[in-house]
Amino acid sequence: MRAQESLDFLKEKEREGLAKVGVRTVGELLQLFPKRYEDRRQFDAFPAQAGGDALCLRGIVIDSVQKRFGAKKGYYEVVLEEPGGGNVFGGGSLSCRWFNMPFVSKMVAVGHEVIVYGRVKDVGGRMVMEHPEFEIVEGGDSLHVDRVVPIYRGVSGLPQRKIRELMARLLEEVEPDSLMASYDVDGSYPRLEAFREIHFPDAIEQTEAARRRFALEEFFEMQVKVLWRRMRHDEQEGRSQGRKTTLLKEFYHSLPFDLTDAQKRSVKEVIDDMRSERAMNRLLQGDVGSGKTFVALCAMLMAVDSGNQAALMAPTQILAEQHWLTFCKWLEPLGVKVGLLTGARDEETENADILIGTHALIFDRAEFDRLSLVVIDEQHKFGVLQRGRLIQQGIAPDVLVMTATPIPRTLTLTIYGDLDVSVLDERPAGRGKIVTGVRVKPKVSEVTKFLKGELETGRQIYLVFPLVEESDSVKALSAVGEFPKWQKRLKDWEVELLHGKMAPEEKDAVMARFRANETQVLVATTVIEVGVDVPNANVMVIWNAERFGLAQLHQLRGRIGRGEHKSYCILSSDGKNGVEKLEVMAETNDGFKIAEADLILRGPGEVLGTIQSGLGELRFAEFLADVDMVREARRLADDVLKNDPLLEGHPLLRKIAEEGSAVMVA
Ligand code: ADP
Ligand code: MG
Repeated sequence: MRAQESLDFLKEKEREGLAKVGVRTVGELLQLFPKRYEDRRQFDAFPAQAGGDALCLRGIVIDSVQKRFGAKKGYYEVVLEEPGGGNVFGGGSLSCRWFNMPFVSKMVAVGHEVIVYGRVKDVGGRMVMEHPEFEIVEGGDSLHVDRVVPIYRGVSGLPQRKIRELMARLLEEVEPDSLMASYDVDGSYPRLEAFREIHFPDAIEQTEAARRRFALEEFFEMQVKVLWRRMRHDEQEGRSQGRKTTLLKEFYHSLPFDLTDAQKRSVKEVIDDMRSERAMNRLLQGDVGSGKTFVALCAMLMAVDSGNQAALMAPTQILAEQHWLTFCKWLEPLGVKVGLLTGARDEETENADILIGTHALIFDRAEFDRLSLVVIDEQHKFGVLQRGRLIQQGIAPDVLVMTATPIPRTLTLTIYGDLDVSVLDERPAGRGKIVTGVRVKPKVSEVTKFLKGELETGRQIYLVFPLVEESDSVKALSAVGEFPKWQKRLKDWEVELLHGKMAPEEKDAVMARFRANETQVLVATTVIEVGVDVPNANVMVIWNAERFGLAQLHQLRGRIGRGEHKSYCILSSDGKNGVEKLEVMAETNDGFKIAEADLILRGPGEVLGTIQSGLGELRFAEFLADVDMVREARRLADDVLKNDPLLEGHPLLRKIAEEGSAVMVA
């Protein structure tokens, strides 16, 4: 039997059940790994108390009853007794209940020996398992008892025993050479052996080595995809630009401050890329406020100096607008024409040297036929997918992606593994300190007093709320609800409202007045989360701060501390819940540390979910726990591609690599 064969020897119903979980071949079935294991050499003792972890019990059914409430509803209950009979303390029996699952009564009956797995509840003084996983023990069967037994996810038409028997048979009959993966990442550990150990281990600990072998394979394929994409990108026809630096120098000398060393280093890396014949494909990674925009500006000026056009894609309209204002301020004196194109506005796009916009639609503009540089201000919002589109234009433009997402280096390797990376690891000098305080249910009068003090010295303030409007289902403050109250409390100053449900023109107008200090207080939602830059605003109060994730709080706080003034971030919490999380914000301002804490608090699934989705699902690997393997996988992938750049000797691997690239360009 070969791994590629279909499962024709199964009944149609069984095949259908497997197809539903994506299994069609022998090899795919072998990759249906157990979701957990039961050590059936040693069962748990019947409990005398409820609670605690799930237990795995073995018992004899001594009684059964079908309870009905009305025509359709009801439950089936069986009483289990520990083998050897109840003990003298009166323990040793337990009830199992299945609600509205009449078929169970046809499967479990008095006299059966069963294994159940679940949590134990106390129902009126009796020990009860509700909806336990269960299996009937049939004598003389070494696959299902008296050993470590695999438990699989449910497959319709195939009970656990049947799956186990199938697996055992496949492991026996499959030809080992047909099991070869796209590439053998570990010759000393045959795949067939790893499959055996994952399905029928002698001890549960044994499964980890096997899982890691498959995880390494998975990371390896991912790295091959990433490197393959990168090699294809490098083969594209690019252009050398940026030899002339008149504008760049002029701009540099017009700046009232010096660039940070990190900015200079990054600009140099960008210049080298742009001058090279191959298209630039670079990631500029820097925490909020590290000054990414100026690096982008330098790059764009070089494109213009070479007679070309440059575009900047921003994730939101407010940001596009803000970038446009910044660019106009610095570049108009140099005679460079900057256009703006958002859903709301279309400004001076005729003959623009630089175009700033919110959408990929800027690439479809006819007047933009000399486009040679694209800057993507990614800030979480654009995925890897959108980037692929750019590669499809005639001569590939130089691409610079900016991100403020602080992620560990190994993750960068994976998510942005096809890009060269420049890092801004330094904040511009002359910034005021940010003090962060966590307050549980602070007195509004005291907050007001503090805010008034800051307003009197001429500063501006953000008040951030989790909701736009009041809601019946979510108990939290809303911007619309609190706005009139703050207007009254701070009546000597101009207070305005800003949230995502407002019309685009209205948002622009509110931001413009805040920027111009015509408005001193913004009552806002997270619309201000990304990129907004008003250096005179130095206070942010975040209400119901416990409702935000750490990464989001970090982004929000990044809006202050942008000028020379000392800044204050007050995280107001509704109760004790989540205060621990908020304390992390008070302890550090370092995006990387916050990201790490976020990963620990929320778990990788939540945090990485969206990032990961761009690269396909991981079946065996765990992104964080297995991070050491990413490096190893990268090394392996590098080696393979160095020796066989077109993967001619590895057709299967090549297919995988090409599929990976296809996805990216779609
Ligand atoms: P981010 O990396 O968050 O996008 P920006 O590029 O928006 O950061 O810059 C944040 C603020 O810092 C802006 O007000 C900008 O004018 C200022 N800035 C950038 N670079 C420097 C520098 N080298 N020295 C002083 N201020 C700077
Ligand atoms: Mg920015």
